[in-house]
Amino acid sequence: MRLRTLDDFDLKDKNVLIRVDMNVPMLNGQVTDSTRLTRAVPTILEVLEKGGKPILLSHFGRPTRGFDLTMSTQQAVIALSNRLKKRVHFATSCIGETAQLAVDTLPKGDVLLLENTRFHQGEKKNEPRFAAELAKLGDIFVSDTFSTAHRAHASVEGIAHLLPSCAGRLMEEEIYRLEAVLSTPERPVLAVVGGAKVSSKLMLLEHLIGPMDKIVIGGGMANTFLAAQGHNIGQSLCEHDMQDTARSILENAKVMNCEIILPVDIVAAKEFSANSEHEILPANKCPADAMILDVGPKTITLIKKHLDEAKTVIWNGPLGAFEIPPYNIATNEAAAHVAFLTETGKVLSVAGGGDTVAALNGSGSAKRFTYISTAGGAFLEWLEGKTLPGVAVLMS
Ligand code: ADP
Ligand code: MG
Repeated sequence: MRLRTLDDFDLKDKNVLIRVDMNVPMLNGQVTDSTRLTRAVPTILEVLEKGGKPILLSHFGRPTRGFDLTMSTQQAVIALSNRLKKRVHFATSCIGETAQLAVDTLPKGDVLLLENTRFHQGEKKNEPRFAAELAKLGDIFVSDTFSTAHRAHASVEGIAHLLPSCAGRLMEEEIYRLEAVLSTPERPVLAVVGGAKVSSKLMLLEHLIGPMDKIVIGGGMANTFLAAQGHNIGQSLCEHDMQDTARSILENAKVMNCEIILPVDIVAAKEFSANSEHEILPANKCPADAMILDVGPKTITLIKKHLDEAKTVIWNGPLGAFEIPPYNIATNEAAAHVAFLTETGKVLSVAGGGDTVAALNGSGSAKRFTYISTAGGAFLEWLEGKTLPGVAVLMS
């Protein structure tokens, strides 16, 4: 089995539907980290160079009830146009007459971005009718979104059955680079898992116990584990109904010989805002009216010690609420340490995830890692050894 690529097709005068990932971190309508846009550029330019018309499909955020202005892909148009140095047109729907008209009138040499695919329920449900509506707009489908390849959604998987389809250059690069570092990693392998998507990532964590030698748990993720150990975590972000899962992960990890490293101290604050009043406390001493926003200095030292013993480091999810300083300290310090170990040839390091990459870019460490993936969840599922539906459909 091999991945079909852009080399397999003649793109001249073809309408080329490209599934990209424009799901970039935003603040007040501004793109705060454009890594994903930048990484989408090579495929789009190649399609243009080969005489095709690029029509971009993407989701943005997690809309639940159709159209929502705050989750319109239109917000990415200017930033994308700046990266491509091309005109980017926008269609207010990704299907139907509006989309068709935009495709038919797209001037050669320009790019068209369609509205958020997740404004339609058919996207997540992978409804054949919705996939067919999308497919109508193009002659060829190119998937360049490794970061959503773990989801069998219509614009990722369903559509690929309906058109001649292949991987884009970013998809190819992601798979090639991740395989190079991680298919037979040098041990010990240490994973750092943090962030806010606790419930979805907790499941993944269960499967990472096998392949990993050590797992550092930080960020919002760690709170569920602290609560599961009977600690009061006050108002912290936590999924209380996942405590049993957290306990069973800790039990299984013992059996499987995977060391789990949890925070030993915390930074607790009463307000979720920049430079709010905060204290450093032992991990079991969060006041009832406060929330844990970062791991503390002793935990940072502990994480560094474990990093020093690792040969391969995998990272998804910030260790704290990094967008609001000073709760970025643990993430920045641990990232700087991974960067240093990478540069001195002691570890191979891979990090992925929209917010994780934003955090590592913010601290200047991202460039110093062995590889930065655009994917978070997909990269963790790939690590489990799962076949990702959005990749499988591009193989023949
Ligand atoms: P990624 O996008 O890299 O996969 P996530 O989306 O899972 O990562 O998590 C990133 C978010 O987690 C950030 O917005 C960060 O503020 C938040 N976060 C991390 N630690 C905490 C915490 N202790 N409390 C609240 N939010 C947190
Ligand atoms: Mg995120």
